Amino acid sequence: MNKPRQTGHTVGTNIKGGIPMQVHVNGECIGCGMCASVCPNEFFMTDGGTAAAFSPEVGPDLADQVQAAADGCPVSAIEVR
Ligand code: SF4
Repeated sequence: MNKPRQTGHTVGTNIKGGIPMQVHVNGECIGCGMCASVCPNEFFMTDGGTAAAFSPEVGPDLADQVQAAADGCPVSAIEVR
């Protein structure tokens, strides 16, 4: 007896947007402060007057802000990938 073939459900694995973004401020920073204003949860100004990142990796919740900071940096000192 043939059973009707079952069509199983594929449980979606949504990796889109779930990949951490790597963030690095390189030595080109001129200390304008823009990134710390745009994304204060990830960037801050050091005592030396340049920017630094709180974390080398951010999740999807901060990715848009970090990307905006990177895009707006006047000397392209914020490297993201
Ligand atoms: Fe430095 Fe660029 Fe941030 Fe300005 S926006 S503080 S130049 S990393």
